[in-house]
Amino acid sequence: MLVDTHAHLNFPQLEKDLESVIQHARELAVNRIVNVGTNLEMSRKALALAERQTGVFASVGFHPHDVERADDRQMSDLADLLVHDPVVAVGETGLDFFRNYAPHDVQEQRFRQHICLAKETGLPLIIHSRGAEDQVMDMLEEEGAQEVGGVLHCFGGDSVQAKRAVDLNFYLGFGGTVTFKKSTSLAVALRVPTDRLLLETDCPYLSPVPYRGKRNEPAYVRYVAEFLSKQMNQPLERVCEQTTHNALRLFRLDDQVIA
Ligand SMILES: [Zn+2]
Repeated sequence: MLVDTHAHLNFPQLEKDLESVIQHARELAVNRIVNVGTNLEMSRKALALAERQTGVFASVGFHPHDVERADDRQMSDLADLLVHDPVVAVGETGLDFFRNYAPHDVQEQRFRQHICLAKETGLPLIIHSRGAEDQVMDMLEEEGAQEVGGVLHCFGGDSVQAKRAVDLNFYLGFGGTVTFKKSTSLAVALRVPTDRLLLETDCPYLSPVPYRGKRNEPAYVRYVAEFLSKQMNQPLERVCEQTTHNALRLFRLDDQVIA
C-alpha cells in the first residue's frame, strides 16, 4: 500500500474525471489520499469529497498564495470544518517568499493562526514553504508547533534545515521533483531518517519522471516510491511499508473508519 500525502483532487485538472483518477490510484495500491485545501471553498470541497470517498481524507487551510482572501470571518468558518472526522490536518499553510503573491506580514499572521488552530485541535500541520525555510521553522518553534508536528511538504530546503525540521517533530514530504535530473532535493531526501519520510504527488502539478510535464495524479506516487527505492538501494516493498507507516502515524489514518 502507498499513501499520497499531498494531492489537490478538487483542482479543475483532476476534478473533471475524479472517479477514474481515484480508481486508477487504487489499481496501483495507492489506497489513502490526503486531499489538501488551499482556501475556504477548496477546503469545503475536500471535506465533502472525503465524506463520500473511502480512503480519501481532507486537510483544510489557506495556502500562503491565497491568504489575502482569508478575512477573519473566513478563518472562523475554516475553524468550524476542523471538527469533522475526515479532516486529518490543518493546511496547507506556511510562507512563500519566492512567488510573493501575498505580503509577508499577511502570510505570517495567517500562518500563526493556522498553527494555533492545529494546537487547539491536536491536528498535525501541512506546511508549504518556498524560499522561507528558516523563517517557517523559526515560527513553528516560536508558536510551539512541536506539540502537534506535521509535514513540510515538497521539501526544498537543505539537509541542515531538514534536520532542524525533524528535531521540531516534523516529517519531510517528497514528490516528483526528486526524480528530476537537476533536482537538489534527492540528496536531501536520501539523508532524511526513513521514519520521517513521506511520499506525495502535489498533483495536478510536478509529475514524476516518466510523466514529467503531464498532469499528475495520486497513482503516480508509485513512481516516486520506485525511484527512491532504487536510489536508496532498498526493496520497493520496504520503502512503501515505511512511508505508509509514517503517513498512517502522522495523520492517524488508522483511527479513521474505512468501509
Ligand atoms: Zn499543495
